Amino acid sequence: MSNKRFAFALHGGAGARSGRDYSVAEYHMRELTENARDRLASGARALDVVEYAVLQMENSGLYVAGRGSAPNSAGYVELDASIMDGPVSAAGAVACLRNVANPISVARRVMEATPHVMLSGAGALEFARAQGFEEIDDPRKYYTLPIGVNKDDVGGQTHGTVGAVALDTNGELAAATSTGGTFGKLEGRVGDTPIIGAGTWADSNVAVSCTGTGEFFIRTGAALAVAYKVKAGASLSQAIDEVLADIRHLGGDGGIIAIDATGRIETIYNSEGMKRASVDNSNTVFVATFD
Ligand code: ASP
Repeated sequence: MSNKRFAFALHGGAGARSGRDYSVAEYHMRELTENARDRLASGARALDVVEYAVLQMENSGLYVAGRGSAPNSAGYVELDASIMDGPVSAAGAVACLRNVANPISVARRVMEATPHVMLSGAGALEFARAQGFEEIDDPRKYYTLPIGVNKDDVGGQTHGTVGAVALDTNGELAAATSTGGTFGKLEGRVGDTPIIGAGTWADSNVAVSCTGTGEFFIRTGAALAVAYKVKAGASLSQAIDEVLADIRHLGGDGGIIAIDATGRIETIYNSEGMKRASVDNSNTVFVATFD
């Protein structure tokens, strides 16, 4: 293990409901967190580690992102994702992307291969195609309801997201978030996840990934609000508590994971539960869904 400080946290969404069994997702989150720990300890970049963790969660079908996404009100899946590289304040995002397996990697490519931050809809799909990203041949077969989500939930307030934040041994921070959004959302609806400063943020002080009903996170500028509060002297937990209190005040709930430049990790939620896992140099992997 490296002596240099590193830290990693991920979430599998704050839409978890008590009484449901998330043990398979918890097992998966533990594996991903151990993998992130090993890679960070051997010098991997935070940006690569958060992209990889989110990509694996998209592929798993265990969370409401990538393969686990549900159709919008028009009957098809639209995906949102974003990624931010703290040290250079670079960001990439996709919104309303259809039938691409890994929106998070398309978001990273937008960041690295275009002068833009966000591509949406048909343009995002065209870009993903031109860049050779894997497309889903048969969406009906590919997309699956994640564990812990029942058929009856579809069309209700069910939602979920995946996200990851990391501090690497060079002191660099990064954040990534990906979602299928809220079940039965209107066609073309964009949540907080692809909006830099709402669902995702990373700079040289802090990396943040949010989950919850996105409209409230947009209305509070949640991820950037956490960063500014930390910059103004708040502790990470105080900053998150205040933002979640503002969200509660508006009638929403959800969760926020964040890491600061000292390696402090916070995974805080005010919904029923949030699938989450974390690790730092102490080497103890923490995994939980409820309190
Ligand atoms: N924030 C996501 C959205 O509104 C959903 C979630 O995090 O559960 O699209």
